[in-house]
Amino acid sequence: MKTVVVIGGGITGLSAMYELQKWKKANQADMKLVLVEASNQLGGKIRTVKQDGFIMEAGADSIVARKMESMPILEELGLEKEIVYNATGRSFIYADGELKPIPVDAVFGIPASIESLAKSTLVSAEGKVAALKDFYSKNETFTKNDSIGSFLEHFLGKELVEKQIAPVLSGVYSGKLSDLTIASTLPYLIDYKEKYGSIIKGLEANKQKFTGGERKFLSFQNGLGSLIDAFEEKLDEVEILLNSNVTKIEKEGSNYLVVLNNLEIIEADYVILSIPHTAAESLITDPDLSKDFAGLKNSSLISVYVGFDVPDSVLPADGTGFIAANTDELSCNACTWTSRKWEHTSKSGNLLVRLFYKSSHPSFASLKEMDQEELLNVALSDINKALGITAKPADSEITKWTEQMPNYLISHPKSVEALESKMAAAYPGVILAGCSYYGVGIPDCIENGIDSARKIIHTF
Ligand code: FAD
Repeated sequence: MKTVVVIGGGITGLSAMYELQKWKKANQADMKLVLVEASNQLGGKIRTVKQDGFIMEAGADSIVARKMESMPILEELGLEKEIVYNATGRSFIYADGELKPIPVDAVFGIPASIESLAKSTLVSAEGKVAALKDFYSKNETFTKNDSIGSFLEHFLGKELVEKQIAPVLSGVYSGKLSDLTIASTLPYLIDYKEKYGSIIKGLEANKQKFTGGERKFLSFQNGLGSLIDAFEEKLDEVEILLNSNVTKIEKEGSNYLVVLNNLEIIEADYVILSIPHTAAESLITDPDLSKDFAGLKNSSLISVYVGFDVPDSVLPADGTGFIAANTDELSCNACTWTSRKWEHTSKSGNLLVRLFYKSSHPSFASLKEMDQEELLNVALSDINKALGITAKPADSEITKWTEQMPNYLISHPKSVEALESKMAAAYPGVILAGCSYYGVGIPDCIENGIDSARKIIHTF
């Protein structure tokens, strides 16, 4: 009998186990499946908290609908009837002490028509005139390996980039625009500049690519945790060990000894390490791999939900949230009006908001040391300043994701490739999987979990 141990019960590990079990059942294979999870529940960065009529997602809150709908997994898990979609509405940027709407016709804050530029309330008249350079200048120097920040500033002007584009784009790609290349963000912009003579005209001509329908994201009536529960229910031939932290993996002949914190040892033929790369590195402890592991980077984020006993209608009617511009006024980077964007999260229709505090913000160094009460006070102050709400909170949920958000730098694919080949040579049968390597989105993790299982299946 062969034993497969999956370490880490997040969405990647669960998907891997699901695929392995499916194959085991179909082929009546003599295979033992063990899933080991350090915490007291499965799900990892997917964790739904239900409290006082609110549904709050400590980690991920939704899934890109287009990717998920094309996967058979939703039907297989019986979740189709529970799907809910986000409401769409306007997003704002908080700047100069007020909420200003991001112009309707904009892609990541970049105007996609001259009207969009003209109507912006985020940029001064001078800033708009500076952006017109885009229409009469040619690209003679920039390549896709240059910084997206310099490229946009050169053609659209500093003010438009700083006040309208950077707040949106930096949030999406988690980094300063000066540190991100055109290739790793919006490579098509350089092609548009070439083909249409203007970034704005290029976006306008290709508008249909960016409007992608109304229903962009999905979740489930009882939150994303339903996905985890559905997997757990299906894994009836898997031994699931919770509260079991793996402390070491030792090679013994062609097998591996997986050592748990209670000193129990599991002998495995195959191991999937669907845990963050820092955890994987500490289990393998191989100096030959440290340079490549060091090429993978993480950042931090604190998520703060606050629920109120006031109706959601206190917020601007068609809004779904705001991004904070580069300002000292707020400590948060962004705020989602959750009850507005996701109706299922507030049964009573009372206001629920979620604030994001990222390690890129200058206040983060002090925020990360704060306890929950102090963080709640920071959030209430931000809510008061930006939204004018002074009501007492009815509920809150605060989670620190310290060094848990993978950031894929330009060197990322090289580091992953090196790790893959060194692991295959030195530790055959041990597979690195999950968000540290192959994409952070939930559909990417599901796909990677399934692929990792298939690598093992193919050797049978
Ligand atoms: P994880 O979920 O990190 O699971 C790893 C598991 O391994 C954990 O359960 C951990 O306890 C366990 N573990 C670690 N070490 C050990 C050990 N030594 N022994 C045993 N077990 C161990 N993605 C989206 O698609 N949409 C979103 O809206 C979204 N929002 C996000 C918001 C936040 C705040 C965060 C943090 C992430 C978000 N993501 C989102 C990303 C997505 O949630 C993750 O990329 C994905 O869930 C990662 O799954 P995983 O299984 O690879 O890893």
